[in-house]
Amino acid sequence: MMPLLRLDNPSLRLTHRPAGRGRHLGRRAGGRGLLRGLATGLGFLAVGALDMQPAMAQSKRNPTIIRDAEIETLMRDYTRPIFKVAGLTQQNIQVVLIGDDSFNAFVADGKRIFINTGTLKQSATPNEVIGVLAHETGHIAGGHLARMRQQMENAQTAAIVGMLLAAGGMAAGVSTGSNMGGSAGAGAMTMPQEIVRRSLLAYQRSEEQAADRSALTYLNATKQSPAGMLKTFERLQNDQIFISQRIDPYAISHPMAAERIAVLEDLAHKSPYFDVKDPPELQARHDMMRAKLVGYTQTPDGVARIYGPQGNTLPARYARAISAYRYGNINDAIRQIDALIAEQPRNPYFYEIKGQAYLEAGRGRDAIGPLRRAVELSDGNPLIRMLLGQALIATNDKSLMDEAVRELNFGLQREPSSPIGWRYLAMAYGQRGDYPNADLASAQSALLSGEYKLARELATRAKTKFPLGSPGWLKADDILNFKPPQEAMRRKPTP
Ligand SMILES: [Zn+2]
Repeated sequence: MMPLLRLDNPSLRLTHRPAGRGRHLGRRAGGRGLLRGLATGLGFLAVGALDMQPAMAQSKRNPTIIRDAEIETLMRDYTRPIFKVAGLTQQNIQVVLIGDDSFNAFVADGKRIFINTGTLKQSATPNEVIGVLAHETGHIAGGHLARMRQQMENAQTAAIVGMLLAAGGMAAGVSTGSNMGGSAGAGAMTMPQEIVRRSLLAYQRSEEQAADRSALTYLNATKQSPAGMLKTFERLQNDQIFISQRIDPYAISHPMAAERIAVLEDLAHKSPYFDVKDPPELQARHDMMRAKLVGYTQTPDGVARIYGPQGNTLPARYARAISAYRYGNINDAIRQIDALIAEQPRNPYFYEIKGQAYLEAGRGRDAIGPLRRAVELSDGNPLIRMLLGQALIATNDKSLMDEAVRELNFGLQREPSSPIGWRYLAMAYGQRGDYPNADLASAQSALLSGEYKLARELATRAKTKFPLGSPGWLKADDILNFKPPQEAMRRKPTP
């Protein structure tokens, strides 16, 4: 998978900032030793919300990209059958998570479906999320992006505009009906630029209906129920009518016209699979995903409110264990995580959390064992491999640097656009005394973080140290030949 933004902070940010100040969503202020100031955790982490307290990570003005092996794997499992029947398997479409509590999902460029964690938290079943993803897939398959792309030429990247949309900055009392700014009630939108954004980003009504029909086709072809999609859209339509001040961004880009919902309802009820339920194991993973999001985004009190202070289900215990390592005592957190592991000894994400908890507590050496196990059980998930690489580096033990280099290189093969991965690789090379490769990896990281000048300086230095024409020399040369995009792109790394 070749996602776009990277893993820590650096990348996906909408403001200029030096690289290397990432902040883990689940991390409290501080940090120590070698990794001080660098985001720990290539596991569950927020990109872009650099200076925010965890509680503020939901802030509408500061969308963050979340990278998480468990949730991304689940999203791939949700979309794989849909992409297949839509004929999009070869397109390598990614689902990208945005850390925002509002309901939203959108296609930025035909290659990525962005989905808010709020959508996942608000959806009780896999089927509800799959329905939304099927609808977005319908927009991709229907080529509904061409018009939007044309209009967004000045924005340079649909992702930036998409992030604005995700940020909900445009949501203010929009009525249904026309999506082009002409409807009654649109007067509640006061800022002209919001109207511009709205007209840029909203699909035409005919496209909405086409995407609905495509979604129904995909759901039928995969023998899944359209009930979740219908439920979600009906709910959004109701929200739209009754809560005009806090309308979800999704309803703005995907106008929930009454007539559209009526047609959808009629068609959905004709599905022979209407009453089909999600497979229990998929529902269980969905519940764990929601628990993880709760554990990372709520305070301990919030977790207790949602799951009950003594809730004993696996999701309740998962959310509490995550909360414990974020807010509590590391030993208590490890005890809780070990109890989860005892229950599901082959669940890679429990080991991953254990390693991450140790790493964030400044105990890199203790993180290594659990993370090696997580790598093994996850079939070498690249995000987890890079987290292991990070833990190995945190030990400052030179005898572990070969393994760190190996893990980071493996991870980067599949996640090559991860600036923080390259930065850790540079640190591992540096600890080994391999300065040409350290410079080259640093140059790569700078390039991906949009720091083109620094990238050139590092690549120039690396190039002089490699033998002429060697692979390292050629890579450095590639970086020197890279043509930076225009100003709009410079704000952030290329997706
Ligand atoms: Zn739509």
